[in-house]
Amino acid sequence: MHRSVPLGAAVRRRAFVKNLAMAAAMTAVLPLRRSQASEPPHLEVKDPAASALGYVEDVAQVELKKYPAYIKGSTCENCLLLQGTTGAHYRPCSLFPGKLVSVSGWCSGWSAEI
Ligand code: SF4
Repeated sequence: MHRSVPLGAAVRRRAFVKNLAMAAAMTAVLPLRRSQASEPPHLEVKDPAASALGYVEDVAQVELKKYPAYIKGSTCENCLLLQGTTGAHYRPCSLFPGKLVSVSGWCSGWSAEI
């Protein structure tokens, strides 16, 4: 047996379903935003520890006169001390706990991968 639904009830039901869909979408997005918010900060070049080791975000900015031991082609990406997931542009470094370094960067703590 089919009963017709009054127009007001149909509109309310449609609004309810729409709100439910929006709530589901927000639930899916919120954990992502929370994980992004908990990502450690990027290491600042002016951070005293970074500055002491000549950290730069772009290896092209290495001061060659100050760091003559710099080996051409060395970057954070091929440093033994870099941690984290391959493919991410900013990753943890065991020399700077709690901060992320640029894989395009470099510092005088660079160590060749074994
Ligand atoms: S120790 Fe290695 S990974 Fe860490 S900042 Fe220096 S060069 Fe980059």
